[in-house]
Amino acid sequence: MRSEQGGGRDVIVIGAGAAGLACAADLVAAGLRVSLLEASDAVGGRIRTDRVSGFVTDRGFQVFNTAYPQVKRRLALRPLRLRPFTPGVLVHTGGGRLLQFTDPTRRPRESRDLVPGRLASARDLAALGLLTAQDAVLPAGRLRARSDRTTLTALTDAGLSTKLIETFFRPFLSGVFLEDGLETSSRYFHFVWRSMVRGTLCLPADGIGAVPAQLAGALPHAVLRTGTPVARLTGDGVVLSDGTEHHAPTVVVATHPTAAVRLLPTLKVPPGRTVTTLYHAADRSPLREPTLLIDTARRFLNTCVLTEVHPHYAPDGRALISTSVLGAPDPTEEAVVRAALAEAYGADTDSWQLVHRYTVHDALPAMPPPLPLSRTSRFSPGRYVCGDHRATGSLQGALASGARAAREVLADTQR
Ligand SMILES: Cc1cc2nc3c(=O)[nH]c(=O)nc-3n(C[C@H](O)[C@H](O)[C@H](O)COP(=O)(O)OP(=O)(O)OC[C@H]3O[C@@H](n4cnc5c(N)ncnc54)[C@H](O)[C@@H]3O)c2cc1C
Repeated sequence: MRSEQGGGRDVIVIGAGAAGLACAADLVAAGLRVSLLEASDAVGGRIRTDRVSGFVTDRGFQVFNTAYPQVKRRLALRPLRLRPFTPGVLVHTGGGRLLQFTDPTRRPRESRDLVPGRLASARDLAALGLLTAQDAVLPAGRLRARSDRTTLTALTDAGLSTKLIETFFRPFLSGVFLEDGLETSSRYFHFVWRSMVRGTLCLPADGIGAVPAQLAGALPHAVLRTGTPVARLTGDGVVLSDGTEHHAPTVVVATHPTAAVRLLPTLKVPPGRTVTTLYHAADRSPLREPTLLIDTARRFLNTCVLTEVHPHYAPDGRALISTSVLGAPDPTEEAVVRAALAEAYGADTDSWQLVHRYTVHDALPAMPPPLPLSRTSRFSPGRYVCGDHRATGSLQGALASGARAAREVLADTQR
C-alpha cells in the first residue's frame, strides 16, 4: 500500500457535501490540519448544478432559504446574486383553477384567495394564523421541547380542517418532505414553517451549486481533494480506492447515508426518500411570475418557471420549467406529468422539450417522529459521523450536523 505525500493531518473529513464542508471549515478555523476527501469531481454532494445545452439545471430542484441560522452564519448572500420566489404558492385545484396562497403580511393585495370560503374557512384561517404566529415568534427551544407527532396529527390538532390539509398542506409538504403521508415529524414541520415565514425562498444566479462552491472557496487550498473516493477506514486513517493510505488520528464520515454505512457498517441510518425532477424548455413562459405551483391531485410535487426567477437559466430566451415528482416514475409516465402541467398552466405542453431528467435516490432521509433534530456525531473513539441523516434533511440540517461534528472533535481532542 502506498502512503500519501505531504505530511499527516489531524483530521480527515470524508465527503464534501454541505456537512463535510461545514465541518472542515470549523476545524480549520480552530487551527487543525484537515484533509477533506471528496469522491466526486466537485463539491456539493446533493447540492449541485449542471449546464445542459446551456440550461442551468440543479441536480433535483431545490430552493435556498435565507432564514436558516447556518446560512446566516456561513454564507455571504450578495455574491450568490439571489432572486426570490413570490412569497406563497399557487394551488391548482383542478380543471385549470388556480388559487393563490400568499403570505398576507408580505403581499396583502394578493391575498384575495385567503378570504373565508375560497381556499379556507374562517375557522381554518384563524387556526392557521395562530399556528403561523406561534411558529414565527416562539423561541426555538420552545418549538424543540414540544411533543413530537406526525405532521398530520399536529395539523389536525391545530384545528385545521381536512379540506385545507388536503387542498394545501398535503400537496405542499409532499414537496418538502418527499413523502405524501404527512408522516414526517411535526417538530421538523414547525421549523420548516418557521423558516418559510421568516425567510425568503430564492435561487442563486448560478444555480444552487453556487452555495457549496462558496463554502469550498473559503477553505485553504490544500484542504480539499476532489476525485478522491475513500474505500475504507483503517486503525489510523483511511484507504482510498486506488490503495493509497492517508493517516490521521481522527476521521469524520460526512457522506450520504448509504456510503456512511459502507464505511461504518454498524451505523444505523434512516431510509431515504426519492424524487425526480424534469426540466422542460418552452418557447413561451406558461406563467409570468416566479411562483411555485402545487397540485391538489398530487400528479406532481411542485413546478415553477425557473426563467421567471433568473431569465438566464435558459440560454436562448426560452422558458425553463422545473417539475418534481415523487419517487422514480417510469420515463413513459412523463406524458402523464405533461398532461397535468398542461391543465395546471393552461398551456399546450406537447411542444415542450425535455431538457433533462434527474432521479435522486435518497434525496432526503425519512424523518418520522420522534425526531431529535440533532444527534451526536460520536461513533467510536476517533470516529465521527455527520450529515443530514444525523439532523434534518435540509441544507440547515447538514450544515448544523457538520458544525456539531467539529465541536465534538474539538472537545474530544483538546481535552
Ligand atoms: C432533489 C433535492 C431537493 C432538495 N431540496 C431541498 C430544499 O429545497 N431545501 C433544503 O434545505 N434542502 C433540500 N434538500 C436537502 C439537502 O440538499 C441535503 O439535506 C444536503 O445537501 C445533504 O448534505 P450532506 O452533506 O449531508 O450530504 P451529501 O450532499 O450527500 O454529501 C455527501 C458527500 O460525500 C461524498 N462521498 C460519498 N461517499 C464518499 C466516499 N467514499 N469518499 C469520499 N467522498 C464520498 C459524496 O460524493 C458527497 O459529495 C434537497 C435534496 C435533494 C437531493
